[in-house]
Amino acid sequence: MTYIPAPDRYGKMEYRRCGRSGVLLPAISIGLWHNFGNITPFGVQQSILRTAFDNGICHFDLANNYGPPYGEAEHNFGIHMDRDWRPHRDELFISSKAGYDMWDGPYGDHGSRKYLISSLDQSLKRMHLDYVDVFYHHRPDPDTPLAETMGALDRIVRSGKALYAGISNYPADKAKIAIDTLRKLGTPCLIEQPNYSMLDRWIENGLTDVLREEGVGCIVFAPLQNGLLTGKYLGGIPADSRAGHDPRYLKPAAITEGKLKKIAALKQIADARGQSLAQMSLAWVLRDKVVTSALIGASRPEQVIENIGAVHSAPFTAEELAAIDAALAL
Ligand code: NDP
Repeated sequence: MTYIPAPDRYGKMEYRRCGRSGVLLPAISIGLWHNFGNITPFGVQQSILRTAFDNGICHFDLANNYGPPYGEAEHNFGIHMDRDWRPHRDELFISSKAGYDMWDGPYGDHGSRKYLISSLDQSLKRMHLDYVDVFYHHRPDPDTPLAETMGALDRIVRSGKALYAGISNYPADKAKIAIDTLRKLGTPCLIEQPNYSMLDRWIENGLTDVLREEGVGCIVFAPLQNGLLTGKYLGGIPADSRAGHDPRYLKPAAITEGKLKKIAALKQIADARGQSLAQMSLAWVLRDKVVTSALIGASRPEQVIENIGAVHSAPFTAEELAAIDAALAL
């Protein structure tokens, strides 16, 4: 059936300016890393994306190697594009990336101009798109000169195959050099994509200062720490959870007693605030406006609906923030 988006979708979301650019992003964005490969029924994927858009999530995040297998999430997204999204292309902000291993041989990994440009060409074909809104270098490459990688991003933007350039997983010092290099080339860096959650606060150690000073946006991935920060593992590992059915990225051994103790204490704080732990975890990463968007994953549409509830959360009091710090120190 033809998809007709909810007419009130934009009223349900908060939109934040991405650094000092002209781009606004939804406070919550959706990523297609998990649940969009060949092991998830197409109808489930479709209802996750439709539910997201119906609730004002107009940013979909992909990468060349999302699957399984690699490339499959982009391939499936191409079919979603044809079935649902073509009439809404200009309402969507779509990203892709290259930087991790993608194909065999010396040109399918890391940060060369050869890899980035050919990978984006492949991604556009898979996704049935003429351009992406932002194209990222997915991770820093210690062996390729940064000038070459940033030069490739600049070239890509000038070619019209991406509207903006981004970097992902760059630590503060490398992010600063990448941002300076892109600015000198005339293609400002729109956005950095690091991981950030209550359980992993590394970006507070310098990276957020760089982004604030440079006016670069920040979209944080895995804000729920692969689902741990929803509280779903407090009673054991559910069979239909990431750790239960796809433990490559959330190994049961990583769900330690120490982490569960902190998560149980965090859940009490969320309960007292009258929201779920997932909602509090998202509100927490969004508490500082340097974070433009929290980039979630979802295995079913109900999770998207719950997570959207974070957008209109009450601001944290100083006491709540102190209680969260104390829970994390347990
Ligand atoms: P999250 O930390 O948001 O984890 C998402 C998973 O948590 C879901 O798939 C689901 O898993 C579970 N979940 C989500 N909401 C709920 C809920 N309300 N209740 C219960 N369980 C819930 O993020 P991801 O790790 O999925 O990463 C998000 C996106 O970030 C990716 O899709 C990708 O776009 C991007 N990313 C970028 C990286 C980079 O290097 N730049 C690296 C990793 C991710 P389940 O139901 O299966 O347990």
